[in-house]
Amino acid sequence: MAFPTSARFVIIGAGIHGLSTALHLARGLKARQAGTGADILVIDKGGIAAGASGIACGVVRNNYFQPAMRELMAHSVALWEENREALHYNPVGYMQISPEAMHGDVAAIHAEQQAIGYESTFVEGEADSARYMRGLFDDWQAKGITSVLHEKRGGYAHNAAAICGLAGMAEAEGVRILTGVTVKGFTFGHNSDAIVAVETDRGRIECGEIVVAPGPWVRDFWAMLDLPGRITVRDATGEDIDDVPMWRFWQLEEGVLGVPLSDFRTNEGQAPPVLHVDSDAPLVSDVDGSLITEEMWGIYYKPDPQFGGIQGGASPYPVEGDADTVALDPYGPASPEFVSSPEFAHMWASALAHCHKRFEGMSHRYKREPSGGLGCFTPDSFPVFDRMRPNAYMIADSNHGYKMLGVGQLVACELLGEPSALLAPFRFDRYAAGALHPVSHSPFPWS
Ligand SMILES: Cc1cc2nc3c(=O)[nH]c(=O)nc-3n(C[C@H](O)[C@H](O)[C@H](O)COP(=O)(O)OP(=O)(O)OC[C@H]3O[C@@H](n4cnc5c(N)ncnc54)[C@H](O)[C@@H]3O)c2cc1C
Repeated sequence: MAFPTSARFVIIGAGIHGLSTALHLARGLKARQAGTGADILVIDKGGIAAGASGIACGVVRNNYFQPAMRELMAHSVALWEENREALHYNPVGYMQISPEAMHGDVAAIHAEQQAIGYESTFVEGEADSARYMRGLFDDWQAKGITSVLHEKRGGYAHNAAAICGLAGMAEAEGVRILTGVTVKGFTFGHNSDAIVAVETDRGRIECGEIVVAPGPWVRDFWAMLDLPGRITVRDATGEDIDDVPMWRFWQLEEGVLGVPLSDFRTNEGQAPPVLHVDSDAPLVSDVDGSLITEEMWGIYYKPDPQFGGIQGGASPYPVEGDADTVALDPYGPASPEFVSSPEFAHMWASALAHCHKRFEGMSHRYKREPSGGLGCFTPDSFPVFDRMRPNAYMIADSNHGYKMLGVGQLVACELLGEPSALLAPFRFDRYAAGALHPVSHSPFPWS
């Protein structure tokens, strides 16, 4: 097929957001008799799932301290459930297991989950938390846990397989996905902020509207759209903080403990929920008993056949220095610089042993292969979903987004003229207005 010289909608990025938007836009056009999937072109410089979506842990949860995030996630979880087989989704549930410092935050999350009808159980107190956990795993031994939030919905999906499933669904609606095409810039209209063409390494594509869904490459697209690299943010006290960098990178540390999947089942022999444990109990080495940290730490993990063991991660670390200088390519496990560190492996495997007796003495089973990857975060670490130019919609998920399957559906509605109340709290002007999302006590920048 010839390289296209124009398209009514050009969507940049064949990850979760670009493909979900393409799928729902195609369906929306058809339902309104306003066009078809053939009006939509998705382009990606790599392949389908070449970015963060292809390496994500794949966890799907509701557990967020911020009401707007929770409501958005409830919408996305419902879409995962509807497309369970096509998107390789495992609805095993999700648990947030916390120390006293997070008790109040998690209690509030549970109360609001009840208010929006999102099914979860909340257990409080050290003895009851331990009893609940031992009811699931008889070798549970983590100390200092005083609350357990058990979300009965959520779980995880097989990262790249789900994205390929989504691509197939979009193509079945007539969407064209073109890979190996790198966007180099945009041509703006005369005396206008509107974009008339997308400039690529294979030629120019004239466009009606564009959707930019670039994952961690948002820094580069922000610059191509001539948007400010530094902004003013009004904080919770009403004070304006000037010159705040728009983008920051964090390195996500993840890895795999290569034990048989059958070694990690519930007492009933079922696949366990995804577990997220935060703790302020001292963490000691599973290798030599030395102290790793007395600070708050956190891990998440699940048995995952795709990874061939227990896969998960720990709190990410901020990449120091100017975001403009961070080398994003090659990305993920292919990066010479940004892959999970040996310190992470030691900490994460020791934390698994802290939680479950069955993982004691198993650190040597950690798979020593590159994993993890960079995420690009906004000033408040929450997404920006907004029209940043008259015909350019930006999906900048601040690295929350594999679980956010539903965002593309809501963006498609907005492109078709129906504003979404769920997306409204994520506009760019919230920084100037001081309408920021509340901050939790979690050690993670995304909770
Ligand atoms: C290690 C890791 C684990 C994660 N785990 C989870 C998790 O468990 N749950 C969760 O909800 N989220 C998780 N995330 C976050 C999540 O993966 C991302 O938020 C989400 O996948 C972003 O999706 P996207 O579609 O915006 O971007 P991406 O999937 O990154 O897709 C962007 C695409 O844009 C393409 N592109 C970039 N530049 C250009 C260009 N110039 N021209 C053309 N194409 C271009 C890239 O090739 C890429 O395919 C994780 C992230 C990482 C790094």
